[in-house]
Amino acid sequence: MSERDLIRDYFAALGARRADVPCGVGDDCALLAVPPDRQLAVSIDTLVAGVHFFADCDPQALGHKSLAVGLSDLASMGAEPAWATLALTLPEIDPDWLGGFARGLGDLAAAHGVQLVGGDTTRGPLTVSIQVHGLVAPGQAVTRAGARPGDLVCVSGTLGDAGLALRQLAAGKAPSATLRRRLERPEPRVGLGRRLAGLASAMIDLSDGLAGDLGHILAASGVGADLELAALPLGPEGATVVAETGDWALPLASGDDYELCFTTPAARRAELSALATPDCAVTVIGQITAAPGLRCREPNGDLWPLDRSGYDHFST
Ligand code: ADP
Ligand code: MG
Repeated sequence: MSERDLIRDYFAALGARRADVPCGVGDDCALLAVPPDRQLAVSIDTLVAGVHFFADCDPQALGHKSLAVGLSDLASMGAEPAWATLALTLPEIDPDWLGGFARGLGDLAAAHGVQLVGGDTTRGPLTVSIQVHGLVAPGQAVTRAGARPGDLVCVSGTLGDAGLALRQLAAGKAPSATLRRRLERPEPRVGLGRRLAGLASAMIDLSDGLAGDLGHILAASGVGADLELAALPLGPEGATVVAETGDWALPLASGDDYELCFTTPAARRAELSALATPDCAVTVIGQITAAPGLRCREPNGDLWPLDRSGYDHFST
């Protein structure tokens, strides 16, 4: 199978068919029609076998996750996903693997109205880079820099599920189907992110753990925060682990949550309840302060030492 056949068979028609793509896969460049009243939101992520995923993982899950991490970035800006490009480095051509990967990628793309419009295919150690392109009205994008003292700190969904799945895999234990799904098939919070444009003062998606990622909002906004650890939303299995071990590093410092962390003025608290859906809660976990730094209070009133949560590793 030639490179050209591979592209035609697996990647020529993935995801949605959009009217704003006058030229997609097949020419030297894709041509994309950005509406005059929109800004382009662009983000790229690379996943490397053995670093970001197990080389023998389910290819369909990998296809899903490779796009999900980019859509999560678009969500955290309040942007509407539109197009994606894929740079794929493969050690060999394996039709079963490619079929699964393309299905996982294509299904998530279609679900979010995204068209795969181009890419590059090379031979080498298994690596997936996906660039996503989204649209947002000027002035509507939510950056990391808008948090103000008194704002509420909120998160979507539950924290630490993917981290718990990873811990269990590392210990040779099979995670439950729920935890495995949270690790392998994160659902990017695209709808929530778009509903938060105009309500959130700052936003970030949680890829490296709450403490470090919230730290990026605090640094960019020039503020600090007080969190109540008892308020952190945990899944049933995560709640059991934290209750048994008192290890708040699970929700504070696990990666791969792909939930949204955002701030909003306290006067708008009532609007938050309308944001939650049956499968995605929105929880207030603390407040922004003028004093810099992040303070996490345990249920007994003690401050949790953040250096035990990887926080220093991520802060500058
Ligand atoms: P060129 O050599 O001009 O860069 P390529 O042979 O790399 O072109 O790619 C041919 C066409 O196929 C281009 O439109 C490119 O965007 C697309 N393409 C290549 N690899 C992929 C891929 N993995 N997924 C989607 N489109 C791809
Ligand atoms: Mg090329």
